[in-house]
Amino acid sequence: MVHVTDRFDSGNIEVLEQNPEDLQLAIRPDEGAEHYQWFHFRVTGARGRRLAWRITNAKGASYEGGWPGYQACASYDREHWFRVPTRYEDGELRVTHQVTADAVWYAYFAPYSLERHQRLIGRSQGAEGVRLEVLGETLDGRPLDMLTVGEPAEGKRPFWILARQHPGETQAEWWMEGALEVLTDPADSVGRELRKRCRLHIVPNCNPDGSKRGNLRVNAAGTNLNREWAEPTAEKSPEVLAIRNRMDETGVDFAMDVHGDEAIPVSFLAGYEGIPGWTEEQGNRYYRYEAILDRRTPDFQTEQGYTKAAPGKANLSMSTNQVAERFGATAMTLEMPYKDNPASPEPEQGWSPERCKLLARDCLAALLEYLDTPDA
Ligand code: ZN
Repeated sequence: MVHVTDRFDSGNIEVLEQNPEDLQLAIRPDEGAEHYQWFHFRVTGARGRRLAWRITNAKGASYEGGWPGYQACASYDREHWFRVPTRYEDGELRVTHQVTADAVWYAYFAPYSLERHQRLIGRSQGAEGVRLEVLGETLDGRPLDMLTVGEPAEGKRPFWILARQHPGETQAEWWMEGALEVLTDPADSVGRELRKRCRLHIVPNCNPDGSKRGNLRVNAAGTNLNREWAEPTAEKSPEVLAIRNRMDETGVDFAMDVHGDEAIPVSFLAGYEGIPGWTEEQGNRYYRYEAILDRRTPDFQTEQGYTKAAPGKANLSMSTNQVAERFGATAMTLEMPYKDNPASPEPEQGWSPERCKLLARDCLAALLEYLDTPDA
């Protein structure tokens, strides 16, 4: 028999009709019911079959623009994730896949489990100059882990890197894995130099509760953490409260908040145009970093992205704007795609964990170059 389950870490699917010729599914909304788009489930009993499944509530998802041109992710071993033929039609996401194993997993993007997060923490803390600190507890009682890289010393610049405020944007923690490989490898010259010159505060997963629950965008209380930075509370957004309080202690010179974007098929940065304290000097530091990254890798570009906020119109409840305004920092939001990059397609895997990790390497190399070049 064909069997479908989502009863595991970050699982999300509801079975409406368990017919192997026409498996009808729906995505379960996040807490608060405002958002959904992340899916992750296992199908067994379809080996040798041309399995057809469809998500019947795709049209009502948080970002309908995420579906056209999107190919679903699949894996037989949960290590290698490949794309399967996917269409968006009649408001449904429809997949047909010739299955060649007893079990196959499908997901919106390659999942990043809490178990893998524990291993990332365990591996990273063994490196020289790395410390682990629990900033606080989530509403479900999970620790909010922060790794600090680089010993404290006079004159070291405090840098902060955050990921997965939005838990369904697993690209962000794959990116973190790549970044931590650079920063903890004794043989990596970029990592060595950054450790010597900066103190990096790294939160690889800002929303472990939402990650575990299989949410796209919110925590256990149904809160979108990246709309809480102006006035975080212990009741709704303890994750942001803990991070922001710690930032108040360290100060912030440079900050990157790592995300995934459902609709835009390429990587891009968003800055802090429109903050009340905006100056050309502060803004140009961000544009300088963006130009360095653009030059370093074809997997980053500046043509597509978000519309810049008008003067004074920045949303200070978002991390990047709040951190830029509050600390005068060079701050940015990095967005990576779910879809494949049309300028440099990779039909087998599309945008993949591997590419997230490689982009992290380029982002850190760009950071080192940014430190070495003067403001324009
Ligand atoms: Zn996001």
